[in-house]
Amino acid sequence: MVKAAELEKFEKEFIDRKPNRCSKCKGRLKYLGGGYYQCFDCENTEIDDFGRIKDYIDENGPKPAIVIAENTGVPIDIVNGMLREGRLEIPEGSKVYIQCLSCGCSIRYGRYCPDCIRNKTNNLKGIYFNPEVGEKPKAAPKQDGKMHFLDFDN
Ligand SMILES: [Zn+2]
Ligand SMILES: [Zn+2]
Repeated sequence: MVKAAELEKFEKEFIDRKPNRCSKCKGRLKYLGGGYYQCFDCENTEIDDFGRIKDYIDENGPKPAIVIAENTGVPIDIVNGMLREGRLEIPEGSKVYIQCLSCGCSIRYGRYCPDCIRNKTNNLKGIYFNPEVGEKPKAAPKQDGKMHFLDFDN
């Protein structure tokens, strides 16, 4: 399946912003996981947008995308891109979800709901190997006055 321009743009932006050299000695970096990198030469650690968001949520709990963007300095486009890519997901019970780009139903992450992917591919296997497929919330959104949260799928 051809990737949508929106996702390509997100990936390019994310990669452009990712640290690729040590900020202290310009040495090469190895990936430690969780958005952290370490310099081979001086052992200085660097962090990418994924790590910034993860640390923020670990410290402050899940927050709306715009609050995460404001507090981490990560552009809102990147936060939204992570949702569409499934690196971030909105937890069950949230009041607001993102929408399937085809039918508009609520999904917690991804681009399309499982039903639309099933209709598109006509093949059950396609659902499990398609990175664009999202997951519908199990219950109807609760009207409890809570703001919508992001959670982390790590
Ligand atoms: Zn270094
Ligand atoms: Zn759909």
